[in-house]
Amino acid sequence: MADPAAPDSTTSNASSAASADAATTPPVVTPVPKRAWGDEEDDDVGDAGDSSSAPSEYMESLKIQDEKTLEEPEDSNITAVTTGDTPYSSASTFEDLNLSPEILKGLYVEMKFQKPSKIQAISLPMILTPPYKDLIAQAHNGSGKTTCFVLGMLSRVDVNLKAPQAFCICPTRELAMQNIEVLKKMGKYTGITSECAVPADSANYVPMSKRPPITAQVVIGTPGTIKKWMSSRKLGVSCVKILVFDEADHMLSEDGFRDDSLRIMRDIEKSSPHCQVLLFSATFDETVKNFVSRVVKDYNQLFVKKEELSLEGVKQYKVICPDELAKIRVIKDRIFELGEKLGQTIIFVRTRNSASMLHKALVDYGYDVTTIQGALTTEHRDKIIKEFKDGLTKVLISTDLLSRGFDQQQVNLVINYDLPLKYESSSEAMKFRSSSQSEPNYEVYLHRIGRAGRFGRKGAVFNLLCGDVEMMRMDKIQNHFNSEVTEVRDSDEDIQAALKTAGLL
Ligand code: ADP
Ligand code: MG
Repeated sequence: MADPAAPDSTTSNASSAASADAATTPPVVTPVPKRAWGDEEDDDVGDAGDSSSAPSEYMESLKIQDEKTLEEPEDSNITAVTTGDTPYSSASTFEDLNLSPEILKGLYVEMKFQKPSKIQAISLPMILTPPYKDLIAQAHNGSGKTTCFVLGMLSRVDVNLKAPQAFCICPTRELAMQNIEVLKKMGKYTGITSECAVPADSANYVPMSKRPPITAQVVIGTPGTIKKWMSSRKLGVSCVKILVFDEADHMLSEDGFRDDSLRIMRDIEKSSPHCQVLLFSATFDETVKNFVSRVVKDYNQLFVKKEELSLEGVKQYKVICPDELAKIRVIKDRIFELGEKLGQTIIFVRTRNSASMLHKALVDYGYDVTTIQGALTTEHRDKIIKEFKDGLTKVLISTDLLSRGFDQQQVNLVINYDLPLKYESSSEAMKFRSSSQSEPNYEVYLHRIGRAGRFGRKGAVFNLLCGDVEMMRMDKIQNHFNSEVTEVRDSDEDIQAALKTAGLL
């Protein structure tokens, strides 16, 4: 079970949502969470500390070229199951959706979108047509789910009513902040107001009692903060018409944010019984699927078979390494040596300890990398993300904090320094955590590799494997998704050939 405040349990949002920061965390404490979702402490002590970002003189500033208009692959196979008599026809243009001229202008002028992606074409008529049924929507990573729920929220808000009407709950502050940026951009001409509900930093802290009630029409945030604002009565829910859960499988899973999410849902339902609930994710494992279908009623559903979820454009490789040192050698000698030829890279690690260790090793070798993990202060997290999004840094080491939702089109390479494992909370299971008995976390694997290949772009993944246990986990992942993970020998020629095949060189 996740600590509600964990993924975001420290400080500020340096962006325009500064006032939103002011409400939650007391000023003096900068707690280091025992375990934050998507980023685990090691069992040994003393890890939680810092992995400060390296100076950036080594790295030349990145030239980011925007590619020509991309289309998501035509074969993205989404199945729709609808209930009731409402006919829905797929939208081939944004005009088909009866969106306001202000929203259309946002889509074309600000977002520079030309036409809806497949998930947008199918889900938006369901979201926007009365009687506004609930929706469980599964679609591939990078296929444009954010636009589905952002358009849903913008369309349902009455701009003349100065009260919260649309909520979106996300697992991390990074994702909440990213989503609110999309909403602000897409909704630029609508006049709709928004607020980001993420934990405050010590510098911007204002006690909740001194804050005016929230009047913003859309509120996007993390469950801990949203819940706090609601229980302190500063965030009213009586006008809420639409409630979105991004990464909904995680938000409603037992080892995710189930308790908080259900509490928020129930509280809203009490005063707004007709509130529409939208659940979006690329993954819904069977357990979560069964659970969510009991939570929402009379819903429409879009889903993708797990065997069809891997992205065509992202080639998956494995490199077998005799030991951990060899993993670092592959990263620096084989991959980093290609330098500017590659786009941006995310290296995923399972624990904060590994993040710090790898960061130090690569910096000691003279490479410029930055690292993000849950034990950093939120100011530091925000800075690392901003530098990476601005293209000032090229290689980012991350725990699973960023495995879900993070959208940076220039990322074309993901390296799994280790494979994600299922988190088991029982004390017996804790003993085996990271041991040979731990199962791979299939969903997190899919989300990690989905950080590359956004919206049909090309990408590559290198899984660095050492020992039989890691090889076995890789086999299980391959079988689970029926996806091909090609073995590549640890040589310059083979690794470059793999990157060429993937379309990166
Ligand atoms: P996900 O389905 O993983 O949530 P996102 O919503 O983050 O995907 O979208 C992935 C990328 O695709 C974003 O950079 C977004 O701007 C882009 N995108 C989404 N919809 C369209 C569209 N209709 N046309 C062009 N680009 C789009
Ligand atoms: Mg997303």
